[in-house]
Amino acid sequence: MDEVDYIIVGQGLAGTILGYTFLKRGKKIKIIDEPSFSSCSRVAAGNYNPIVFKRLVKSWKADEVIPFADNFFLEAEKFLRDKIFWKKEVMKIFANENEKWFWEKKTLEDNKYLTPAQNNLIENPKSLVAPFGFGLVKDAGKIYSARFIELFRNYFSEKKILQEEKFNFSKLKRSGGQVEYENSIAKKIIFCEGWKALGNPYFSYLPFKPAKGELLILAIEDFNCEKIIHKNGYLYSIGNKLFVAGSTYEWKELDDIPTEKGKSAIIEKLKKIIQIPFKIVGHVAGVRPSTKDRRPFIGLHPAFNEIGIFNGFGTKAVMLAPYFANQLYNYLEFNSPLDMEVNICRFPLP
Ligand SMILES: Cc1cc2nc3c(=O)[nH]c(=O)nc-3n(C[C@H](O)[C@H](O)[C@H](O)COP(=O)(O)OP(=O)(O)OC[C@H]3O[C@@H](n4cnc5c(N)ncnc54)[C@H](O)[C@@H]3O)c2cc1C
Repeated sequence: MDEVDYIIVGQGLAGTILGYTFLKRGKKIKIIDEPSFSSCSRVAAGNYNPIVFKRLVKSWKADEVIPFADNFFLEAEKFLRDKIFWKKEVMKIFANENEKWFWEKKTLEDNKYLTPAQNNLIENPKSLVAPFGFGLVKDAGKIYSARFIELFRNYFSEKKILQEEKFNFSKLKRSGGQVEYENSIAKKIIFCEGWKALGNPYFSYLPFKPAKGELLILAIEDFNCEKIIHKNGYLYSIGNKLFVAGSTYEWKELDDIPTEKGKSAIIEKLKKIIQIPFKIVGHVAGVRPSTKDRRPFIGLHPAFNEIGIFNGFGTKAVMLAPYFANQLYNYLEFNSPLDMEVNICRFPLP
């Protein structure tokens, strides 16, 4: 038997961030992941933004989670010896006078992320559609999510931590406050399956609300912008004249298949951002593990103390998962409190 502290099921952003958090604290882990099962983290844009654009207020816990995420990804970069993390500004282009007025009003409030509205585009003045001007959001950022997952996958494989297979629930045994799965025995098992948790017999009762999303990869000549450009949709550079444009939301057809409908919707958004030719060179889709109350699902099963979950990060895995992986670690090891807004004890067992 292989004795470990924790078994983690799923190596998307959630499982990877949790796994690295445990390893940094000297814990022994085993990760079980079937890579072909779901690809959300491998297609994610990887951005985080401290501002909710609809109401121009700070994103939930932004002041606490952003410094934590920044340190986490800087440290991960050093560990992986590769560039996966960038601090960025978000350029919010106003769609009309009203949006500009609202932005100006909000910049007068105590919000360190919003900067005064501007009119003159210095970068790409002829290519960007911004007749009402724009405002910059400070302290945003992005990770190269697919690369982050791949580099950790290589590391976990090398260290023989990773077992590539579909998790088989009938092989999970609980005995004496521990869990056994195939040839591994652990104190606890933590499920990080993304939206596939809908098929998890222990956690399918949680109110998930998965949302499919699509992105286009574009080649654009004579256009440079290091900022994440936002105007209903978004556009950002990934180098070599390539850009990512997104995204879409679909709650009924849940799969990883790019659609013509999704492509057209992104092109419509894009035409309101830039007025230069672009070539579509890629098109991807994934399903976000969103939740009905828009808060993650973290904690231990109310009836089975050896079985836990770290999931439900919706559109905000990059910003929230490092902070809450640390919180879950402290909860499991030292019984420190879990934030009640993320703790799954907020939902009674059916
Ligand atoms: C188009 C799009 C754009 C996005 N942009 C952003 C963004 O800019 N910023 C941001 O923070 N988030 C973004 N997201 C959301 C982000 O992708 C998710 O929040 C995050 O990737 C979820 O990670 P996860 O690990 O929970 O799930 P997943 O990425 O789905 O990973 C789950 C893993 O578990 C494995 N698995 C599941 N079930 C089993 C099983 N039974 N046995 C074995 N393995 C299993 C899967 O194969 C997968 O590897 C975006 C999502 C989409 C679709």
